[in-house]
Order: sequence, then C-alpha cells, then structure tokens
Amino acid sequence: MASWEDNVRKVVPYTPGEQPKIANIIKLNTNENPYPPSPAVLKALRETDGDYLRRYPDPKSQDLTEAFARLHGISSSRVFAGVGSDDVLAMCFLTFFNSEKPVLFPDITYSFYDVWADLFRIPYRTVPLDENFGIVKEDYYGENGGVIFPNPNAPTGIPMKQSDVTDILDRNKDVVVIVDEAYVDFCGESMLGLTGEYENLLVVQTLSKSRALAGMRIGFAVGSEKLIRYLNDVKYSFNSYTMNYTAIKAGEAALEDRGYFEYTREKIIATRERSKKEMEKLGFIVTDSRSNFLFVRHKEAAARDLFRALREAGIIVRYFDKPRIDNYLRITVGTDEQMDTLFAFLESWLKKEKA
Ligand SMILES: *Cc1c(COP(=O)(O)O)cnc(C)c1O
Repeated sequence: MASWEDNVRKVVPYTPGEQPKIANIIKLNTNENPYPPSPAVLKALRETDGDYLRRYPDPKSQDLTEAFARLHGISSSRVFAGVGSDDVLAMCFLTFFNSEKPVLFPDITYSFYDVWADLFRIPYRTVPLDENFGIVKEDYYGENGGVIFPNPNAPTGIPMKQSDVTDILDRNKDVVVIVDEAYVDFCGESMLGLTGEYENLLVVQTLSKSRALAGMRIGFAVGSEKLIRYLNDVKYSFNSYTMNYTAIKAGEAALEDRGYFEYTREKIIATRERSKKEMEKLGFIVTDSRSNFLFVRHKEAAARDLFRALREAGIIVRYFDKPRIDNYLRITVGTDEQMDTLFAFLESWLKKEKA
C-alpha cells in the first residue's frame, strides 16, 4: 500500500441488490413497487419548467415537507426530507448517535445500519432476534448510545406491537430511538403518532416502496421540533440542497394522490397474502410478513440452489449469505402475473429435484 493510503477512510460498503440490465427478467430482489407511480407524478414531471432547474431548489423542501405534514395532520416543522430514507438515516446516525456507548440494533436487520456505524465510527452492538425472528424488547433496556430498528423488520417482514415499541421508548428516554418504517404502509401500524408524545422518537419513512418512487429518492423523518432542528443543522452543514426541484414536485404529487396510493397498496397486500398460501403449498415456511416482500425457507431445497435456479430462469430474488438467514430467500411481492410465473417455475423445479 502507498503511504498516502494509510490515512484514507476505509469502509466496507453496503451491497445493494443488483439492477441487472437483462431484458424480460422478473425482478423481485429490491422491494420495488411492481406498479408505476401515480399518474400525477408523471404529470408534475412533464410540467417541470427549465427555469426552475436553472435555479437552486428550496433548501427547506417546504412544498414536500408540507405535503407530508398535511397527510399526517402534523406541523411541517416536525418533518425532515432527504434523498431516500438512506440519506435520512445516514444523517440521523451522524446527528444522534454521538455517544461512547454502543448503539443497539437487531442482528438480523437492514444491512446498512452497521455500514453507517462503521463509516461514522459509531460504536454499536447487535442484539439477537429470538428464534422466531422477533425483537425481544427486554434486550434494549440496558445502557446504550441509541436504538434503531425497522418496523416491520427487514428482511423478515415481522412487525412489533405498539406496546412493545412504547416499552422500549419508556426504557430509553435518555437516547434517540429511531423506528425505520420503510414498509409500514403494507403493515398498518405506524408509530408516527407517538412522536408527539416522545421527544426522543424519530420515525423514518420513504416514498420508494409504497409510492413506487425508488428512482426519485425521497425519504422523511418525523419527530419533535427539537430533533428535526438538530437534523437540519447537520444537513445544512453538509449539503443544503439535497432535494432537487423535480424530487420535491414529484413527491408532493405522489403524497397528494391518496386514491391511487390506496388502490396499489391494497393490490400488493392482496397479492402478498395469496402468495403466502401458494408458497406454503409448495413446501415453503413463510414468515407472517407485513411488508411488500416474503421471507421464505423451503423444507427440503437449499435457498442457495433455489436462488441460482431462479436466476437462470430470469427470476431475480434476494439471497443473504449471512448467519441465521443463509437458508432463506427474500422475494418482493410483484404483480399477480409475475408471482404466478414464480410459482409455476418453483413447482416444476421442485418436482424435478425430487425425481
Ligand atoms: C428500502 C429500505 C430503506 C431505504 O429506502 P430508500 O429507497 O433509501 O428510501 C431503508 N430502510 C429499510 C429497512 C429498507 O428496506
């Protein structure tokens, strides 16, 4: 290594699900919405005037935070917007996890948390889920530098009861607790309402999954005015213009079209529930996922073999080569037609394997 490399900040980056450039694949690996975004979003983009692009965007992203605030009946001073929830979460780690004590999160969870912790030199400790992949609330009682978990959790899809979340909050009043609600629209029980009650609770959401805007990069944090002020101070010390003009307009349009949102999310939930039953018929053990993906294990076939066979058939799912979950597949809920193709392939492949 050259000597200048001694002082390089070295990190092991997060590995995103692949975005293959192959035509005609069924892509069920990154929890994208199988339906397009609201037509109102495309209209807003068509109406983008070149003069707006010439100018710097609103550093406060006010139109966007106000649209989100209106939807939830809260003040926009309690809303922060970022470039996808990944950007929001990175800002949160940088702002709120600044203790010598370890930040706590589950051992099986969104695999970006430990990457941010390492990047920002934040000490952390992973807390094992129970044997049914449940979060054990008592494990978060001790001293720590902050707490973060997704609800529903990823990649298991399993949600926590609100009473368990409030229990963790009651035991952690001296640190910031972050609930990552990337999938909450497919679950139903948001903790957003608790942010009025707990000054140290931050709820993070995204338009990537339930609003089909992964390509536009829009995420939010909701919390007390104090938390949002601290978050904005760090953001303005880093890059004032994270949200570009088109993202602000597209996000606003998506949030305002409640009818389309309800229609597509109900369709995805219905497909998910049907898919759970179909997968069980095929010999899979299926977690009771409340997200837009399934987390499954086959009674006989190894996940790695299934993953490879599916890939060869042009069906891309997610496989994590990690302790405890290396025999599972995470399969995004696609359209009914895509899921039927998946079931048909699995049925014939499993039959062939058995023979
Ligand atoms: C998808 C996901 C995110 C990030 O989504 P963005 O596209 O950056 O908004 C954050 N947390 C979890 C648990 C996710 O699954």
